[in-house]
Parts: sequence; C-alpha cells; structure tokens
Amino acid sequence: MLPTDLLDRARAGECTNEDAIMLANAPLPELFRLADELRAEAVGDTVTYILNRNINFTSRCIGTCRFCAFRDPNGYRMEISEILLKVQEAVKIGATEICIQGGILPDMRLDSYCEILESIKSEFPDIHLHSCSPMEVYHAARGGVGVKGALVALKGAGLDTMPGTAAEILVDRVRERICPDKLNTEEWAGVIRNAHNLGIRTTATIMYGHIETMQDRIEHLFLIRDIQKETHGFTEFVPLPFMPHNNELGSEMLASGNYGITGIDDLRMHALARIVLHTHIKNIQASWVKLGTKLAQYALHCGANDLGGTLMEEKISKSAGATSGEYMSPAEFDWIIRKAGRVPAVRDTIYSHQQQPGGAATR
Ligand code: SF4
Repeated sequence: MLPTDLLDRARAGECTNEDAIMLANAPLPELFRLADELRAEAVGDTVTYILNRNINFTSRCIGTCRFCAFRDPNGYRMEISEILLKVQEAVKIGATEICIQGGILPDMRLDSYCEILESIKSEFPDIHLHSCSPMEVYHAARGGVGVKGALVALKGAGLDTMPGTAAEILVDRVRERICPDKLNTEEWAGVIRNAHNLGIRTTATIMYGHIETMQDRIEHLFLIRDIQKETHGFTEFVPLPFMPHNNELGSEMLASGNYGITGIDDLRMHALARIVLHTHIKNIQASWVKLGTKLAQYALHCGANDLGGTLMEEKISKSAGATSGEYMSPAEFDWIIRKAGRVPAVRDTIYSHQQQPGGAATR
C-alpha cells in the first residue's frame, strides 16, 4: 500500500523526489489506480484529440543526435509551394493545427523560418501554427538577435505555439551522450521560459527508454513542474518512448541485448507523469504513433487523457521503427476512446475548446 502521506502530497500536487522514486517502484495496480484517480479529478472522463497535420519540411540536418533515424544527408527539402499544398489538403479535411518542424540546416536563418510561417498565415489565416522546436529557435537566434529577439520575430510572422521537443532527457550528463551538439538543459529551459513569457505556449516532452536512469526521468519531470509553476505556459506533457531502430544509439542497445522500453514501462512513465505533474499540467498525452493504438488506449487508464493528433504524415517515428501508420481518422479515435469507456472530444491546440464529434462544445 502506498503511504497515506504520499497519497496526500500527490493529491495536493506536492510530490517529492522521494515520493516519485517510491511511485516508480510501486506495484503497478496501485500506481495506475492513483494516476487514474488524479486524471479523473483533473479532467474527468473526456479524452481529447486534435485534427492536425505534421509537416517535416526537411530531412537534412547538421545535427549529430545519436538517437536520430530521420536525418538523411541526401534527403529532401520542401519548397514553400509544397508546404502550402500540404496545408491546403489539411484545411480541406478540417485540420485546425499545422505542426511544422525540420532538420537543422546551415542556411536556415531567422528570416527563412519567418518566411515559412508568414506564407502559411497569409493564405490560411485561421490555421494554428504549432512550429519551431526549441532547437530550431536556438538555431534561428544565432547571428546576434538572441533567443528572445528570434521568438518575437517568429511570433510576429505567425507562430502561435511551439512543440516542446528537443527536450529528450533534460539532464546534461545524458544529453552529452545522446545529443552532444544539441542545446543543453539550461538553454532548452531558457527558450521555453522566454516563449512562455512572450505568450507563446508550448507542449513539454520527454524521450525515455535509452541510457537514462529512472532518477534522470524524475529530474526531468521536476524541471518541467518547476518551469510550469513559474510560467503556466505548458499545455500538455507528452512521454515519448525511444524507438531503437535505424539509429546509432538503438543499434548499440540492440547489440547488447537491450530491446528497448517495454509496454509496462511505457505505462509506468505515463502514470508517473500524471502523478508528479498533478495540479500543474492537466493534460498527459499518450502518443498513438509511438505506443501503437492498443497501448495508447490502455494508457488512458494509467493517467493519460489525450491521444494527440490525426497527423496525416509522420516521418520521424516511422524512420525509427514505429509501425502504427501516419494517419488516424477521427472515426477511429472516437472508436478507441469509446471502447476505453471514455468520452471523445476534438480539441484545439491549447485545450481551450473541446467539441464532441459532430456535437456541442463541452466547455
Ligand atoms: S533529432 Fe533533429 S536535430 Fe537531431 S539529428 Fe535528428 S533531425 Fe537533426
């Protein structure tokens, strides 16, 4: 049985590091029961998803992330006209959000990022632009303008919200081994704090299941919680399991007999995130692309309340071995959610509006 004082702290949103360690080692039924109780208290029985399209505008990248299966020195780079066509297709089927990210290119400057955003917004003013990872912002900020200056320019060009990707594990000892050339923990947090202070809300992510320890994951969760206490700018937390195929880090793991994260650990991670972030971040997303639809559905009983987006195309996880496909229709989302005993609702990017499929707004 989990101790009463731990349960009290969890319900009050005041879990300590020691509590998180105890929870990470707790019997699964107790962990899942608590996460499910806190999920019900935070958001009730509604499970959300968004009609969106992912656009990875280039697969070329000067980055050296050892977990990456996406970068390709001979890869593609989309023209703006091609990006606009993809946005048009998405708008036609009712998408409200476009998520654009790409590899890091030496000739991509702040102006280049702004040009993409402006081109989309001028043709599709109502579409929500969820774009520019902290790494891309950091890259765009070089040349003297600084992170804050870059964010101001990007917002002026049409940036609405940002994905909190490039977080991986926010512990520098781990980052040095898996992504030595990426922005470090302090730099990532700096981009995010600046964005939130400018009114650009972001998601928060963690990429777990490689060389990190449970304590590293817990440290990551507490940093996210601390930032949220200051800024209230995170809209959701998305645990992303590491995909070990077609990349250097995964090859080393597979060769040493480590086949990557298991479904049990995926569920444990989602439950832990719900409990540690309770009262601070309401929305915990189970990524159907990473987990597969069946495990994502089960995660709805372990603390998760959102299933992400329709996506329409997804190249990053697919290149690392994900097999769940690149598009899930609203009808399938509704089916999965109802079969989990929950109530489906389509949401916007910042969860300010939710609507039951074909029905009335829920809030
Ligand atoms: S994860 Fe992103 S930044 Fe790192 S190598 Fe891959 S595409 Fe480049």
